[in-house]
Amino acid sequence: MFVKDIQSLTRGELEGRLTALGQPAYRAAQTLDWLYVRRVTTWDAMTNLPRALRGLLQEQFSLHAPELVRRRGSRDSTQKFLWRLADQSLIESVLIPANRALYGEASDRHTLCISTQVGCAYGCRFCASGLEGWKRNLEPDEIVGQVLAVERVVANEISDGESGASERQARRIVDNVVVMGMGEPLANYDRLLQALKILNAPWGLGIGARKITVSTSGLAPQIRRLAAEPLQFRLAISLHGATDDVRNRLMPVNRKYPLRDLMAACEEYRNKGGRRITFEYILIEGVNDDISQVRPLATLARRLGAKVNLIPYNTVEGLRWKRPAESVCETFLHALEKHGVVATLRREKGHDIDAACGQLRLKAGNLAAAPAAQNNA
Ligand code: SAH
Ligand code: SF4
Repeated sequence: MFVKDIQSLTRGELEGRLTALGQPAYRAAQTLDWLYVRRVTTWDAMTNLPRALRGLLQEQFSLHAPELVRRRGSRDSTQKFLWRLADQSLIESVLIPANRALYGEASDRHTLCISTQVGCAYGCRFCASGLEGWKRNLEPDEIVGQVLAVERVVANEISDGESGASERQARRIVDNVVVMGMGEPLANYDRLLQALKILNAPWGLGIGARKITVSTSGLAPQIRRLAAEPLQFRLAISLHGATDDVRNRLMPVNRKYPLRDLMAACEEYRNKGGRRITFEYILIEGVNDDISQVRPLATLARRLGAKVNLIPYNTVEGLRWKRPAESVCETFLHALEKHGVVATLRREKGHDIDAACGQLRLKAGNLAAAPAAQNNA
């Protein structure tokens, strides 16, 4: 039988369950404090809850935490975390410092890139995540759990010589979240939204909606749904082609939701409260890096007032696509700018040795590198 994890519940839902168990309302606040401030991983650690209540909670809910399998990268730069979930599935999260340490001290402001599915069903031709197909959706607690787990690991390592162990334990590490890891977030819509509510809530992790960016390959109906949500998350569209012709070659999803539908949905999103949209555009040699793509791309970007992030392709083992020469990327960027589009180009020397799943790093790193455009409230 599927047992719900307590970290998949909103405060209202938890209060409801506790009331049904004959418990006073303040027990919900205490429990939430243990989960999201103290970030404990066992029922026994919740020492101000009566033992009997802890037993009841344990009967009703699971309390899972992703298990760290591997960690790569250094404390002052991008770090990749590989997690094992309760069913043995493996997922990744990538942590990027917001501002590099200037004088050797560690940065304590970070963007975290999180996964929403195990594998991906969308099969974009250039992407490592879709290579082995789709396995399952992540539950809300498994999405939220990536942020909690990273904070657990990192908070304790930042030593400022003053704070005590419990203060360190409660310190917030992640102030921006980008949903750009493995999976198509909008194909797991309800669980994603539940997780984002928990990440955003003051009783949860308290991360502002405008500091949360959801990336999609272009699921038009779900973009419309997201537009109707009261929480104003940021939206990134993985465009990668500015004509249906080019996009069809790269992303099967474009046959279902061609550019005309996608742009109409984006327009609806932008018009609800003036929300900003970003286009992600991977530059792939001989596929979409031709200067002839600049004009249609600029037209789409201007129509939506969207900023464009250009990302030189990160080679994936077993796939034939290549990164264009640096000069080609620069030419593409300048041509876009000439058309009046705000654009950035991720300049990274060579390919990242650590990034078995390089897309995570590149994409998330690009957002972190543009805090003024992406991260302001
Ligand atoms: N499924 C969602 C979110 C996860 S993919 C989406 O497609 O938007 C995150 C981003 O990484 C997407 O923009 C994707 O196009 C990009 N990406 C995938 N493989 C890549 C690679 N090899 N190099 C650079 N970016 C890549
Ligand atoms: Fe899935 Fe996104 Fe990769 Fe496409 S780019 S296969 S939608 S994870």
